[in-house]
Amino acid sequence: MGRGYQAVCNECGTQVEVNDGPGMIAMPFRCEDCGKEWWWHFGPGGPMDKEPEPPPCECGGRFTSEAPPRCPKCRSTDLERDPGGYEVMYD
Ligand SMILES: [Zn+2]
Ligand SMILES: [Zn+2]
Repeated sequence: MGRGYQAVCNECGTQVEVNDGPGMIAMPFRCEDCGKEWWWHFGPGGPMDKEPEPPPCECGGRFTSEAPPRCPKCRSTDLERDPGGYEVMYD
């Protein structure tokens, strides 16, 4: 199960939406360089025997499932969960 939540960048104060963890039919990948999201839609059969084929990011970076969330503005990884923000579960 994955979840989406709001975080705040400790560097510049930008509010960031973070999606974390796999859902039932798709999971978020992030660009290693800029943190942009790309969703891998593997469908209801699950990710097991499938290979993700992420496109190259427009910044030239690579989408992986391991990349940390980043601030879209300053690219910092120093994000703190917004205690007043929403959290949604998806699966
Ligand atoms: Zn920032
Ligand atoms: Zn990128």
